[in-house]
This record gives sequence, structure tokens and C-alpha cells, in this order.
Amino acid sequence: MNDVTIIGTGPAGLTAAIYAARGGLKVIIYAGMQHGGQLTTTTEVENWPGVAEGIMGPKLMSEMTAQAERFGAKVIYEEITKVDFSKKPFKMWAGDTEITSKAVIIATGATAKTLGLPNEASLMGRGLSTCATCDGFFYKNKTVALVGGGDSAMEEANYLAGICAQVYLIHRRDVFKASKIMLERAKKHPKIKFMVPYEPLETLSDASGVTGVKIKNVTTGAVSDLKVDGLFMAIGHTPNSAIFKDFVDTDHHGYIKVTDGTKTKTPGVFAAGDIADSVFRQAVTAAGMGCQAGMQTIRYIQEHG
Ligand code: NAP
Repeated sequence: MNDVTIIGTGPAGLTAAIYAARGGLKVIIYAGMQHGGQLTTTTEVENWPGVAEGIMGPKLMSEMTAQAERFGAKVIYEEITKVDFSKKPFKMWAGDTEITSKAVIIATGATAKTLGLPNEASLMGRGLSTCATCDGFFYKNKTVALVGGGDSAMEEANYLAGICAQVYLIHRRDVFKASKIMLERAKKHPKIKFMVPYEPLETLSDASGVTGVKIKNVTTGAVSDLKVDGLFMAIGHTPNSAIFKDFVDTDHHGYIKVTDGTKTKTPGVFAAGDIADSVFRQAVTAAGMGCQAGMQTIRYIQEHG
């Protein structure tokens, strides 16, 4: 039996593994479908403290994996597909393989929704992005478009407007999910131009990456090309919490609710990183929660054996 099974190998899961393994626990981490999490789809990470010159996302995650393994954590490259946390020891399944564990840390993250435009995968990191905080700096004094009409879109449009020369905010409806205050702030910003109601049809690109976006006016049906250097998508995230729903509380978006750090409603089951954080969603905040989950697991095992 494992002391702790960590589900997810993003910054939260791997930091939890480093703390739990250094604390003497037998730690197994399941990597799932995307080992390293969302950072493996970014290019350069410049806001990870302690690396002055920046680091590539995949490199950061492979370093974190090696660090966790150095202290004895074992990474298994399989996906947990079913769990039963109704009694102890907790049970999980990776396909047909049953795993039992005294404690569990859920660090399965959230997946940024994308528009599903043609060539999306090949242009990701070459002009297409789902994270303004991560990639905005690469568009300093350039022109970008951002798609979305919720609070994330308003926040990210404001963030980009502080860096870029011009931000087009493209939204498919003339009503917004965003809160009034955040919408008004974006509307008042001189560098943000609202393109409403428009929907993106296609990214335009050359060998260097994105050069523009083909958009359709939803009311008139007119199609036009908007010349931009980057296209950001802020159309929401899907927290990867579906298989845990019977054993944890979630908010109406599916994010796991935690109290007192990283505790879920099931004692011994902790949640850390983007799966439990719809607001900050940064590598460093996920790592911080991973640290808390690792420490709380050590305490839990000391108290409950
Ligand atoms: P959201 O509120 O669900 O908004 C998503 C937006 O993307 C909507 O405007 C939606 O358009 C649009 N969209 C979705 N799919 C699309 C598609 N295929 N094509 C074009 N547009 C599409 O998501 P969110 O903005 O990420 O916010 C999630 C939660 O986090 C919310 O509760 C929000 O309040 C919270 N949040 C809070 C803060 C803050 O307080 N500082 C910051 C960020 C997020 P429609 O409106 O037409 O559906």
C-alpha cells in the first residue's frame, strides 16, 4: 500500500511529491495523459522565481520530476480512471490495476478550453496562447486579439493592454458573462477595442506563426481579416474533477472546494493546484498549494498511521 498516491504531475503534484517524499512517505505519482501538465504546452516561463533567465515549460517540468524522483517518489505514466474514497484504505484504478493508499492528493489541474480552429495545435506557442500572464510579455508593443466574454477575458485583456500596443477583444455575443466592474474597466481602457458580436473562424499564419485572424460578424455575416501578432483564448477552463465528484465538494464550475489549506471533505484526501483554484492558476501558486498538500499529508499520516 502507498502512503500517498498523488494524481497529476503538474507543479502542484510534483511539489507535493517532493515534500511528502522528503518527509519520509512512500509516494507514487500518476502522470495521467499529460505528464507535466499545462506547462508542457507553454514555451518560455519567465515568472518562475529563482531562474533569472527564464526556463522552457517542458524543461521546468522535467527538472521537477527528476527532483521528486531523487527523493524516492515513483512516477507511473498511467491514468487513474476510477476512484473509491468511501472507506480506508482509499482505492484507485489505473485501467484494471487496483491501487490502495492511506492518503491521496488530487492535483489533476484544469484544461484550458480552446476554440478548435484549424491548425490550433501547431500554432500553440507560435502566436496562439491560452494564458496571457504566461505569454503576454512576448507581445510587448505588438497587436493581439483575445477571445472571450467572461471575467478571465476582461482580466487578461487588461493585463495584455499594459504590455501590448493594441488589444482587440473578440466576443461572440453583445452580452457578457463578465462582472460589471471588470467589463467597465476593460471598456474604458484606451488600448482595448471591443469587436462584438464577432466569432473567429480561422487563424492566419506564415512560417513565423500567427499573422492574423479571420472573423465573422455574427449579426451581418460579414467576414474580414484582422491583422494581429498573437491570438489569446480566454474562454474558460475545465477542471479535471469528474471522477472525484462523489467524494469531494465542487463549485458550480467543477473546481474542488478546499478548506484549511488543501483539505477536501474526505479526511485524508487533499486537493492542490488548478483543480482547486479558479482564480490564480499560476505554476508558482500551484506549487505553493502542492507544498501545503504534502505537509498536510505528512501530518495526516502521522496522526492516523
Ligand atoms: P466563463 O465565465 O465561463 O466565460 C467564458 C467566456 O468564453 C464566455 O463569455 C463565453 O461566451 C466564451 N466562450 C466559451 N466558449 C466559446 C467558444 N467556443 N467560442 C467563443 N467564445 C466562447 O469563464 P472565465 O472567464 O474563465 O471565468 C470562470 C470563473 O472564474 C468565473 O466564475 C469567473 O467569475 C471567475 N474568474 C474571476 C476572476 C476575478 O474575479 N478576478 C478572474 C477570472 C475568472 P458566452 O458568454 O457566449 O457563453
